[in-house]
Order: sequence, then C-alpha cells, then structure tokens
Amino acid sequence: MADAQRAVFLDKDGTLVEDVPWNVDPALLRFTPHAVDGLKLLAAHGWRLIVVTNQPGIALGRFDADALARLEQALCERLAEQGVVLDGFFACPHAPDSPGCDCRKPQPGLLRQAQRRHGLRLSASWMIGDILDDVEAGARAGCRTVLMDVGNETVWRASPWRQPTCVAGDLLDAARQIVALSPAGARDAPVTAAGALP
Ligand SMILES: [Zn+2]
Repeated sequence: MADAQRAVFLDKDGTLVEDVPWNVDPALLRFTPHAVDGLKLLAAHGWRLIVVTNQPGIALGRFDADALARLEQALCERLAEQGVVLDGFFACPHAPDSPGCDCRKPQPGLLRQAQRRHGLRLSASWMIGDILDDVEAGARAGCRTVLMDVGNETVWRASPWRQPTCVAGDLLDAARQIVALSPAGARDAPVTAAGALP
C-alpha cells in the first residue's frame, strides 16, 4: 500500500455536530465551534476526512437507514458549501451488545471498513471523538487519538486503550495538534503508544 492515504476519523454527534439525540433532521444540524475551520486545516495538510458514527437508532426503530442517508447527504452538502470534502461516512446501525456487530465503537470495525474501502494507512491516521469509546476505537485500529474534552464523557472508565494521544478543546484545537505532531509530507507516522499496545 505504498500510496495509502492518511485519514482523520471523526465522530459525528458531539464532535463534528452538536449532539441532538436521535436526530436525522438536516435542519437541526449544527457544527460544533470551529469544526469547519478544523476540517479545512486537516484537508489542507492532506488528510482524508471520514465520519465514523454509532447509529443504534436504526436498530431501535427511531429512524431508518434512508433517513440517515439523507442526513449524510445534507452533511456533505453543508460542508461542500464551505469548501470541505467529506471523503467517507461509516455508521454502525446496530443496538448495543448486538451479536455479530464488530463495528459499534469502542470496537474498531468502522475504521477498518473505511481502511479497506479507501486504502488508508491506519498507523498514519487519527481518530477524534468526544468520549473515550471513540479513543478506544481509534487506538484498537492502530491510530493516534484526540479526545475532544467538551464535557460529554462522564464515565471515564480507564484502560490502556482509552488513553488519548492528545486532549483538545474543540475541533480546530484538535486539528492543530494533529498537524503539529505529523511532520509535513511524512507518509509514515512514528510508531505510537497506542500502536504498541497488546
Ligand atoms: Zn455494528
């Protein structure tokens, strides 16, 4: 995979957009503070931008896959209006503890789906999220991680997988730290603490 790309995986609810429980109404989409500027910075430095989101509302009957697809389309359009290309959108439709689901974060299945579809280099990629389940999913996939600490994590269950590489106050802060820790043009990130875990 000599030409594999690096990506920043973005949690959706609470990280990229304000969390509105069970929302699939495009009219209620609100970006978190400085989110679009953060995405522009990452895109300018060559990262693919990929959303990875748990959407148990599908399994629980709150909305259907078509409604989520319309929300994804609206999200892409809202970003495109500001010159940002969203390269991928991967959702786990399963309820918590569903047998056979390997994609609900903190599992890394969504990141691996994205890796296969887009030819990504996970060791050069990052995961940004507002809770430690996002951090764990990123670490388990072999990525470095940013916890956007905006008050949404409340449990703080600790494990070696749940130690973020960095902590940020918003998405622009996260993007700046990622850029600072990833030398320009470097296609191979140094081996990370997360990647060295068993
Ligand atoms: Zn799943």
